[in-house]
Amino acid sequence: MRAMQNSSRLQHVRYDLRGPVQHAAKKMESEGHSILRMNLGDPAPFGLHAPESIVVDMIHHLREAQGYSDSKGIFSARTAISQYYETKGLMDIGVEDIFIGNGVSELISMTLQAFLEVGDEVLIPSPDYPLWTAATVLCGGSAVHYMCDEENNWWPDMADVEAKITDRTRAIVLINPNNPTGAVYPRHVLEQFADLARRHDLVLFSDEIYEKITFEDQVHIHTASVARDIPVLTFSGLSKAYRMPGYRAGWVAVSGPRWATAAYRESLELLASLRLCPNVPAQHAIQTSLGGYQSITDLIRPGGRLREQRDLACRLLNEIPGVSCVPAAGAMYLFPKLDPEMYPFVDDEQFVLDLLQDQKILVSHGTAFHWHATDHFRFVILPAVDDIREAVRRIATFLASYRAK
Ligand code: PLP
Repeated sequence: MRAMQNSSRLQHVRYDLRGPVQHAAKKMESEGHSILRMNLGDPAPFGLHAPESIVVDMIHHLREAQGYSDSKGIFSARTAISQYYETKGLMDIGVEDIFIGNGVSELISMTLQAFLEVGDEVLIPSPDYPLWTAATVLCGGSAVHYMCDEENNWWPDMADVEAKITDRTRAIVLINPNNPTGAVYPRHVLEQFADLARRHDLVLFSDEIYEKITFEDQVHIHTASVARDIPVLTFSGLSKAYRMPGYRAGWVAVSGPRWATAAYRESLELLASLRLCPNVPAQHAIQTSLGGYQSITDLIRPGGRLREQRDLACRLLNEIPGVSCVPAAGAMYLFPKLDPEMYPFVDDEQFVLDLLQDQKILVSHGTAFHWHATDHFRFVILPAVDDIREAVRRIATFLASYRAK
């Protein structure tokens, strides 16, 4: 018997966030070590739980959620989503324009599958949320990364975006608020994206899963609200702001002129029907989530837990010699820089593995986010302040011993 073959399509697909570093941490845990996990964007392990009213509502609907639903999702949830977007300045969004999925993750894959031809290029930010690159490559597309500028609030370098447009470019991905940098894009940046899309006939894929997690006076603006005349796909869901990633509920809204998106929406419907329907119980949480009290505001306002954790993490990381960190304007992450002259790591995954072995703390290496250099890592701000203090202390200890060598 021959060993089972594996598809060559996966040859260039990477998702390092759940790769070798995670395996090493799990192995250490199985050997009895306790690891300080500053790596995954899951609120639940840090005591940031879903609002009780939403969980109760879902339990209430469990019996009627036994059967399959409409492939695009239940009507009440899609209505709630379309009404929500209408209040946010997206034009002419109807129930038929909303597709619910098992998290935004599934929809990223589905929407790209319905869209791309082999060889098509998609512009994706660097650093990125790596699923965007992986899903593009899996569809036979080519991920072309545009630079985000650390010196300028981590906003996209628009000259670089434009320079990377070719006659094979079909779409631009925006992640706003951004994972891993925490950047929140102002209106003029979004208008520049809209202008590029207009001039080069491109579609905008706007990943807004962190839309409700912004700090200080940052206001999140929906890309589709400043690009009403062109096709925009707006992604969001319950995983982050409502703290229920395990329930798997996300959605995408297709906006823009109906004639321009009609055939595409049919392809998306076909793909949605191939997977029958998204997880039904979680769909019942959507209407309550969007319509009820937005408890995330308690966490992000001054004095709120997430806000305090962000402030503390950023301040302490910046106190380590040779580490600099732009304060996150939104989302749940920091993306600090290690001065390459002080810390000339050639392999940042190895740096993260060594840090794990030495200090029992887990962060994510920057190149996992398609960052071009080995001089960044991602630090999650979800753990409580004591854990953040301890985590930064361990990183500082590791770096001090590296400098002393
Ligand atoms: N998009 C971004 C930018 C993310 O950071 C994540 C998860 O961390 C996702 C999408 C996936 O979210 P979901 O849980 O809805 O699949």
